[in-house]
Amino acid sequence: MLTIVRRAMLLAGAASALTSTARRSAAQTAVSELGPVVVDPSYPFVLPPLPYATSANDPYIDTQTMALHHDKHHAAYVANLNAAVKDNPQVAAMTLTQMLAKLNELPDTIRTAVRNNGGGHAYHSMFWVVMGGKGGDPAGDVATAITRDFGSFAQLKADFNKAGLGQFGSGWAVVLVDSSGKLSLAARPNQDSPLMDGKRVLFGNDVWEHAYYLKYQNRRADYLTAWWNVVNWPVVAARYKAATDATQLGI
Ligand code: MN
Repeated sequence: MLTIVRRAMLLAGAASALTSTARRSAAQTAVSELGPVVVDPSYPFVLPPLPYATSANDPYIDTQTMALHHDKHHAAYVANLNAAVKDNPQVAAMTLTQMLAKLNELPDTIRTAVRNNGGGHAYHSMFWVVMGGKGGDPAGDVATAITRDFGSFAQLKADFNKAGLGQFGSGWAVVLVDSSGKLSLAARPNQDSPLMDGKRVLFGNDVWEHAYYLKYQNRRADYLTAWWNVVNWPVVAARYKAATDATQLGI
């Protein structure tokens, strides 16, 4: 994870120093040097550092929300996941994707804790890396796939925002990707990960109130609309490429 974070920071730093014309080609070059943008962590789990400053997503996602969300909420999922598996060597020997995919085979005593906290760790580890970007339009193969599978990028945004708004209570709106590169939309309650169903998340947005309430209060729709301004499309493109490579399992 540290290697990925370092490269993402280099990418962000390089992009900010360039003109908009030069930024696109610089970002494309940097993506090819990005390496894997998916990870499959195992016990002992650690909280991955944000790959950018907590203010990087201002004004769309405010600094206080980013700090609390990462430093408190995500940290708690990591701590609770470690606590759940530490006395179960067979479970602790599994990677996070394995734990979630084989949830029904886990001991009853820790199944719910792994579902909630393992799901939370997987989701948030994805969430931080697909943000910190400049939004705008996707490019390359992932853009082609979006047009093919959703009709247009505008249609994807509309459908995704509707799914996020329609998720009652807490949960996530996600774009799934299969090994052939086909995309689909899903919403899940709580921290229920698509990895539980053997499915893979390309990117997604957190619609728990803790993700937006300080700035947007009850206006989830406004948060969903604003979030697209911070999507890091070069990272999403790299995740798309990784998803079609069977050797790159991960969250
Ligand atoms: Mn969250």
